[in-house]
Amino acid sequence: MTIMDTALRPVSDTIDVPTELYVAGTWRPAAGGRRFDVFNPASGEALTSVADADVNDAIAAVDAAEAAAKDWAASAPRARADVLMRAFHLMHERREELALLITLENGKALADARSEVTYAAEFFRWYAEEAVRLRGQLGVSPSGANRILVTHQPVGISVLITPWNFPAAMATRKIAPALAAGCTTILKPASETPLTALAVASLLEEAGVPSGVLNVITTKRSGPVVDALLTDHRTRMLSFTGSTEVGSLLLRTAADSVLKCAMELGGNAPFLVLADADLDAALDGAMVAKMRNGGQACTAANRFFVQAPIHDAFVEGLVSRMAAIAIGPGADESFQCGPLVNAGAVEKVDALVRDAVARGARAVLGGRPVDGPGYFYPPTVLVDVPRDARILHEEVFGPVAPVVRFEQEEEALALANATPYGLVSYLYTADLARGLRLAQGIESGMVGLNRGLVSDPAAPFGGSKQSGLGREGSTEGLLEFTEIQYIATSW
Ligand code: NAD
Repeated sequence: MTIMDTALRPVSDTIDVPTELYVAGTWRPAAGGRRFDVFNPASGEALTSVADADVNDAIAAVDAAEAAAKDWAASAPRARADVLMRAFHLMHERREELALLITLENGKALADARSEVTYAAEFFRWYAEEAVRLRGQLGVSPSGANRILVTHQPVGISVLITPWNFPAAMATRKIAPALAAGCTTILKPASETPLTALAVASLLEEAGVPSGVLNVITTKRSGPVVDALLTDHRTRMLSFTGSTEVGSLLLRTAADSVLKCAMELGGNAPFLVLADADLDAALDGAMVAKMRNGGQACTAANRFFVQAPIHDAFVEGLVSRMAAIAIGPGADESFQCGPLVNAGAVEKVDALVRDAVARGARAVLGGRPVDGPGYFYPPTVLVDVPRDARILHEEVFGPVAPVVRFEQEEEALALANATPYGLVSYLYTADLARGLRLAQGIESGMVGLNRGLVSDPAAPFGGSKQSGLGREGSTEGLLEFTEIQYIATSW
């Protein structure tokens, strides 16, 4: 299947991508023969269509994962590592095609898409390295009567559910540790961005993943299909990335079969700038934390709290940097910010901005959606944002920076923590000791201290509070896909 996007300036002539389901090592249509369209958010037009799986396809995928489970779990860690390392190299070779594919279905600027492919590939390399380093423990029981032998077994069939905002990286961040641990998998990507997931599956097939070890189910009917996957007694693990709302719904379903769950959920990241911060560094960090993927990241800085003495200079610098960002179709290299993912996303951002303005905030840059075609919202800076504005309490998921002035650092900490989310926080100060002390007072799983980017395959990514359970990346990400087995032994 070839996609050619004629609505955009030609960046590359064609991309080959499968559009069927990937089950038991074969590309096949959905059992019911249905398909659904995939859209380009830069134009609103359909790019192509993909197979629309139903419950029967979900069961077939579990059948395939079950058939492959024993052999894959028993395979040599080095053999699993080799497959993942080949996938890493292939992903680098295909970087340009994959980046363009991401841009076409997700909308993000090509530079962001290239960074995503590099980041996504790193999970294959990191877990290729981790696959051969899984250690257990041996201890002596306090009575001396026996030895305590602890090993990590593959948890078993794992259902991987991913969002649209990082269609490659959110998939590889799950597939790589699951495969390294010896689990077989079923990936259900977001229906907005199924093509990247299918392209990643095709690449893994080429890298030598045995049939049934990875299965990909694209569907427009997420509810019943995911329900079938999670309630099948053979499934043992749910690894989900997406909104807190859907995540908590799936936790309820997973409870029935007591599945192991790793949940990467929504965020509402505060970005604190203390008066002693290096202003330029804080502005550089703010732009990365706010504008990566046009603000459509779970780690996006959602709320800027700036100490009074530096507030006006920070706002001035932020406005001038945000104003310099050109928005337009992401596949055109002259634009640094692409569209939002769909019309609903624009409506949501617009509603949050309008609410803030109605309560007394001022838009010093942007503040109104851009007329179509495509789903564009301009870089926007809001000041004098009142503390009850919805935009300070809900994920914006767009290029909007609400700025709030504060006086005392205790006040900033209280504001930062006044949210049920706890994914990531950013903090800028020249005083490292103060920064570390404040970081420990912040209720989030990750803190960027004088950094606007925290994502790293070697670091434990994840949230506290309603931002999630468990961690991805690092050794912890591998352990999520294992079950501890303790063997009491005497010798
Ligand atoms: P979403 O929750 O709407 O969808 C996530 C996935 O769940 C998709 O595959 C979707 O098709 C599926 N889904 C939706 N409704 C479902 C249902 N009723 N039953 C079963 N599956 C269902 O999230 P999204 O809009 O795709 O992504 C944006 C959200 O993801 C934001 O909240 C963002 O913060 C979060 N996110 C979190 C992380 C993280 O690592 N913590 C990373 C990226 C995105």
